[in-house]
Amino acid sequence: MTQETGGFAAFNLNPNILAAIIATGYEEPSAIQQQSIPIIMAGHDMIGQAQTGTGKTAAFALPILHRIDPAKREPQALILAPTRELALQVATAFETYSKQMPGVTVVAVYGGAPMGPQLKAIRNGAQIVVATPGRLCDHLRRDEKVLATVNHLVLDEADEMLKLGFMDDLEVIFKAMPATRQTVLFSATLPQSIRAIAERHLRDPQHVKIQTKTQTVTAIEQAHLLVHADQKTSAVLSLLEVEDFDALIMFVRTKQATLDLASALEAKGYKAAALNGDIAQNQRERVIDSLKDGRLDIVVATDVAARGLDVPRITHVFNVDMPYDPESYVHRIGRTGRAGREGRALLLVTPRERRMLQVIERVTGQKVAEVRLPDSQAVLDARIKKLTNSLAPLVADAEASHGDLLDRLTADIGCTPRALAAALLRKATNGQALTLAAIEKERPLVPNSAPRGDRPDRSSGDRPDRGDRERRAPMPLAEGRARCRTALGARDGIAAKNLLGAILNEGGLAREAIGRIQVRDSFSLVELPEDGLERLLAKLKDTRVAGKQLKLRRYRED
Ligand code: AMP
Repeated sequence: MTQETGGFAAFNLNPNILAAIIATGYEEPSAIQQQSIPIIMAGHDMIGQAQTGTGKTAAFALPILHRIDPAKREPQALILAPTRELALQVATAFETYSKQMPGVTVVAVYGGAPMGPQLKAIRNGAQIVVATPGRLCDHLRRDEKVLATVNHLVLDEADEMLKLGFMDDLEVIFKAMPATRQTVLFSATLPQSIRAIAERHLRDPQHVKIQTKTQTVTAIEQAHLLVHADQKTSAVLSLLEVEDFDALIMFVRTKQATLDLASALEAKGYKAAALNGDIAQNQRERVIDSLKDGRLDIVVATDVAARGLDVPRITHVFNVDMPYDPESYVHRIGRTGRAGREGRALLLVTPRERRMLQVIERVTGQKVAEVRLPDSQAVLDARIKKLTNSLAPLVADAEASHGDLLDRLTADIGCTPRALAAALLRKATNGQALTLAAIEKERPLVPNSAPRGDRPDRSSGDRPDRGDRERRAPMPLAEGRARCRTALGARDGIAAKNLLGAILNEGGLAREAIGRIQVRDSFSLVELPEDGLERLLAKLKDTRVAGKQLKLRRYRED
């Protein structure tokens, strides 16, 4: 076992769980995991204040798995999540962590899928049930004993559940479970409504909150870029084209990610290497020495492996995966801007991690500006600049040493010096795309507008692209879809995931049935199936989102 997994080993989790963590490539528990796991393992009720990106899912999933009895074929733990999307994500996490626990099964229960198979999976002895409250209540109406054996309950993103109007459903669910159960509540915020639930339904809960001290980061210019998780590698490659860096460190979360990203960079000709806890100490030192003396330019590291790394050449830090907490963000970006030099830090943010970005901004007291992926023109300009910089120093004495040879070659070939210079350039640039058309052809398909659909409004009005987005014409509709409009928009605190959650849960639709969701400041558009639309709208008549009536109507473009 490497020294890093020692962090997880110290919890004394069931060895099969520890084995799965090691296989997943986690090196060290995050702060929320460090604090929550022992409390939940000991059977206490708990209130955890944490948002997505902190590692909160594993913070409850690991100890809950530890506490269940795989030999008993009955529901033992219930995890409630506000949306189908999150429920599926949590269920997948449980499956990953229980991979080496024979006999443990997980069932996801959510609206939009047939109820029969879900109930069957529960009755067949799934120990872990991950559910959205609405659908779970439907099951309870059919069989009020479904939850009778559940003795661990986790409310995940409790504030979101209340925002989606699940308060009454939660009460029904609480009543259907043994009063002696363990209850764990995770929420990004703790408004009065959540505290009231905790008071009524939790017993002597312990509180866990990641303490965030204000941190200063001055000499470092910070920016963030919105991307989907599966676009990170291409985004990194595009950014590298235009960033003027000397040495660079990239942070990811797992050992596997260090290897994958480093080899993708190597394949593109960068001098890159991975640095993770599995790499022997002397080899790690070699990697760092190589970064120091320029044999390497990029190191892709986990937090653990980069500990204590001090290389003055580092001009850039890329946070390819979000750090778990603001402290580690500050710590990571402190790898640049050393010895009074200037540094630049870029943070990749997936849609679900935007909240974490806000926390980082609050704790550091600084705005982390948004940047976009460079367009083809910017890539072309950067490539030509690099070429110019590499050739310029050679020109001075080249004519003296090679001028005569040039004369002879042009005479022998019978071409102009321009034609020969062009041929030499082609050879020297080795097939690199150096025209706009060629770059457009080779560039990976990363939509520049990345995931904007569910961006929350920041009401700051300082986004240069805002006006464009507001004016943008609606996208053409896919066949069989109708566009619907609600007067709720970003200024009402609405994000696409809220709309999605509400429509999925209350409308009983499958995720695939819902098309694009566009949230604007003062309204939102949702694409729904034309077939059965009137019935669906009638069903959603009283639906509330973020405390307001949704009032979804068919939208006519003309
Ligand atoms: P969450 O905050 O639960 O949504 O987790 C965010 C991401 O962090 C997920 O992709 C997890 O797989 C990953 N993750 C959670 N804990 C760890 C850990 N200790 N080490 C590395 N990655 C982790």
